[in-house]
Amino acid sequence: MLRVFEFFVDNKKTELNPVFDIVLGYHYPEIVSALQVTAKESLELAKRIVSLGLGVEEYHEQVIRCPFCSSEYTTVRFHCPFCNSTKLVKEVLLEHLGDGTIAPLSAFKKGGADAIVCPVCKKALAKEGKDYRTVGVWYGCLSCGKQFDTPKNTFLCLSCSKEFTTQELVISSVNKVTIDKAILEDFSRRHLILRPLLSVIAEVGYEPASPGTMTGKSGYQHSFSAIGKDKDGKVYAFDIAVGSPQVEESAILNMFAKVLDTQPAKSYIICMPSLNINGKKIAGVYGIEVVEGGSMTEVSKRLKEAITGNRDGGGEADAKVKADAVAVGRKAGN
Ligand SMILES: [Zn+2]
Ligand SMILES: [Zn+2]
Ligand SMILES: [Zn+2]
Repeated sequence: MLRVFEFFVDNKKTELNPVFDIVLGYHYPEIVSALQVTAKESLELAKRIVSLGLGVEEYHEQVIRCPFCSSEYTTVRFHCPFCNSTKLVKEVLLEHLGDGTIAPLSAFKKGGADAIVCPVCKKALAKEGKDYRTVGVWYGCLSCGKQFDTPKNTFLCLSCSKEFTTQELVISSVNKVTIDKAILEDFSRRHLILRPLLSVIAEVGYEPASPGTMTGKSGYQHSFSAIGKDKDGKVYAFDIAVGSPQVEESAILNMFAKVLDTQPAKSYIICMPSLNINGKKIAGVYGIEVVEGGSMTEVSKRLKEAITGNRDGGGEADAKVKADAVAVGRKAGN
């Protein structure tokens, strides 16, 4: 589902339009090519978008299906209403306005391919609408020789080769899917933040993952916007919070519940554009580092500084603690 939304955001699209293919039937080609899924899977994905309430369907086209195998690959067949034969010829009927002669077009063309000559009075006719007109169509059965104006029709399934009637056929529809604009905008915002976040995590040398799941001491799996893993296997947690006009402290409380259980090496929360005062106080107490910024460029820069600053600073502090410990150990040993 994430990839479907990425596709929408990347291509600035809000609609999925079904397209018919003679082999695949109706499907959503954009999903097929963007996600490398089958035509059938594209229909399932579109259905899921709708069932999850992320988009709405709108009738696009009627689809006739085979009642035996459900294939959309069907064709109509015309039959003689008298003997059921499918060997039919269809012709246009012309009327010579001068004498009222009505005959099939072929009878008017006996004099040559281009000339139209009345088969009764033998007069050459010049212009349709002026001296002759089309009055209808005519079907002839090549099996029984009868003529009629309305053939009987049945359907043929080109997949399973079975025939079926109008009474038996299955009518279904294929729909256009329109993604809910608010949901897409929300996703877009997060997505546009998430991608630069992942590149910062990679740039500082961590292995990024999103969504970042960590299993807590409770055994419960928590999910952060992203996590980064360093060479030593230490995991850093990153959450994204967007607020208007500011991010509220609840974002910190939410993250802290996860941090408490999963104990990442360090936790960062990106607050766009900024975090309210209470949130900052709580974040300070809980040891969650807040990175604010109005744009992702700003956030990326600050986050990078924060991570490298913590690492370098933290590294020195660690080294000092270790040195002290060694010193203490030596003293104790002496
Ligand atoms: Zn005539
Ligand atoms: Zn017939
Ligand atoms: Zn069939």
